Amino acid sequence: MSDYKQFHRRSIEDRDGFWAEQAQLVHWNKPAEQVCDFSRPPFVKWFKGGETNLCFNAVDRHAAERPNDRALVYISTETNEEKVYSFAELQREVERMAAIYLELGVKRGDRVLIYMPMIAEAAFAMLACARIGAIHSVVFGGFAAGSLATRIDDAKPVLMVSSDAGMRNGKPVPYKHLVDEACKLAEFPPAKVLLVDRGLDKGFPRVEGRDVDYASLRAKHMDAQVPVTWLESSEPSYILYTSGTTGKPKGVQRDTGGYTVALAASMKHIFTGGKGETMFSTSDIGWVVGHSYIVYGPLVAGMATIMYEGTPLRPDAGIWWQIVEKYKVNVMFSAPTAVRVLKKQDPAFLKKYDLSSLKHLFLAGEPLDETSHKWIMDELGIPVIDNYWQTETGWPMLAICRGVEESRIKLGSPAFPVYGYDLRIFREDGSECGAEEKGIVGIVPPLPPGCLSTVWGQDERFVSTYFSLFTDPVVYSSSDWGIKDADGYHTILGRMDDVINVAGHRLGTREIEEAVQAHPAIAEVAVVGVADEVKGQMPMAFAVVKNADDVDSAEKRAELEKAVMKTVDNMLGAIARPSRVHFITGLPKTRSGKMLRRSIQALAEGRDPGDLTTIDDPSTLEQIRSALAG
Ligand code: ATP
Ligand code: MG
Repeated sequence: MSDYKQFHRRSIEDRDGFWAEQAQLVHWNKPAEQVCDFSRPPFVKWFKGGETNLCFNAVDRHAAERPNDRALVYISTETNEEKVYSFAELQREVERMAAIYLELGVKRGDRVLIYMPMIAEAAFAMLACARIGAIHSVVFGGFAAGSLATRIDDAKPVLMVSSDAGMRNGKPVPYKHLVDEACKLAEFPPAKVLLVDRGLDKGFPRVEGRDVDYASLRAKHMDAQVPVTWLESSEPSYILYTSGTTGKPKGVQRDTGGYTVALAASMKHIFTGGKGETMFSTSDIGWVVGHSYIVYGPLVAGMATIMYEGTPLRPDAGIWWQIVEKYKVNVMFSAPTAVRVLKKQDPAFLKKYDLSSLKHLFLAGEPLDETSHKWIMDELGIPVIDNYWQTETGWPMLAICRGVEESRIKLGSPAFPVYGYDLRIFREDGSECGAEEKGIVGIVPPLPPGCLSTVWGQDERFVSTYFSLFTDPVVYSSSDWGIKDADGYHTILGRMDDVINVAGHRLGTREIEEAVQAHPAIAEVAVVGVADEVKGQMPMAFAVVKNADDVDSAEKRAELEKAVMKTVDNMLGAIARPSRVHFITGLPKTRSGKMLRRSIQALAEGRDPGDLTTIDDPSTLEQIRSALAG
């Protein structure tokens, strides 16, 4: 531990020396002239003057060294396909895709919008952009035409890459139709649309002069050789919009050199994966985890990566573990929401497969409650590492790093600031909180390599969104609420907007949710603050039970509601007791598994639930409406 403390301290105090060392994990065509240029705060340029290429680091250098090693494993339980690409094969596919881009007129700095299901071609499409210096903007395939159009108009792509359809739960999900609709809605639609025809939507309409077919262009470029374009370190690699949990998504702009170094370092110090090993991240390429830890991170480290199209429950709840056994997965990354889904299934599925290759499971994206953390760690018998970060940062801010014994995992806590991040908890006046004092999670700038360089096309928004919470000192605000205990462990208590103020006491939604979830009958819960004339706000809970029998009569519901309230009283005190505990069968979440607390709160206060373009299952809102009415 003291080693890690020293490691962290050095990363802050000897910033340039530390990152110059990490930079050696990647290949530079030309070394940097300056490690960190922070002459125009809060903007920072990492590895100024250096020249590198993300695709070269992810693919070419491994293809040269170990051409036949596994690089990409594509598995679809939706179409029952499985295909393994070696590094050499991956490079050939990426060069073909890059040649198609060049033929379609894509140039360095141009944007390419990728709207695709989880198929291998989506990874080729991303890597091909990186290869020629085009900037990709991957939009999650679940978004409807309106959300897609907004992102088209913000990024103004010259090309869109898409597919006829995706598959979810055995049913085709149209993509091409949405592309057509979005292009009609958009003010700046792309000139060309490249389509990977999976044969799932036979006879879909094509737009003359705009739509081009991937298979036929690929056939033309079978032997293509497209050299990498060396980019100056600060040139953008991609734009990625935040998940949109709390409103209008922001176009996070990532650089090239800093990001490549940050990923390579994180694979070594956090994820501890290396050449010849395999990583399985159960996310989607449309999210930041998909960018950093499905596509780029593992490949940069020379690992094989698994791209999985399917759900955790089909054909049965053992599918992930079957994949782990078959491909000897060493490192796995998922989200707390998935653990809570699995918790409701038969635990026998976890025991059925040989999981001895698996070293670590990493979970991020939402608070990981203690109960679920313990459950999954006991079931798997390996360290399960909660890590906290954002689309903006691109890689973890809080985690247990190598050098810290895993026995030091504290349930429900993503632990310590990661090297490179001068992360602290602040009061609203800009002073620093003491131990056990709730405050805002902030980072003293400069942001380390890999974090956003700006908001795409909106430098002012970058400053006003992230660096304006207080002016003295200027710090990056995560907009999350957190606390650090006396041993230095951090806990994220919820988003700043979600804090509940009960008669002057500030309670994180997370704290109350944790207490509700401590009741053994509860699988999952959302707590929101509802306006109250007397107390300002009162917490209200919407809970999903593990076993439906527990709430199948009014008496049982009343009894369980009382029992849950008592659990909260015992753990946090009566001040945190929810005014009501409503029982429903599913909670409204975004397509990335994040709770839409704002919408729940709006309904509970009799307001309009707001922008719901990212919602996964709209019927959950109906349940909340009827629970409130009943
Ligand atoms: P938007 O910013 O558009 O509202 P979003 O914040 O949901 O969307 P992401 O960048 O995907 O978009 O999510 C980051 C947020 O997720 C964090 O700010 C935090 O609130 C939450 N989060 C991520 N990891 C953890 C974790 N380990 N523990 C608690 N919360 C987490
Ligand atoms: Mg956010």
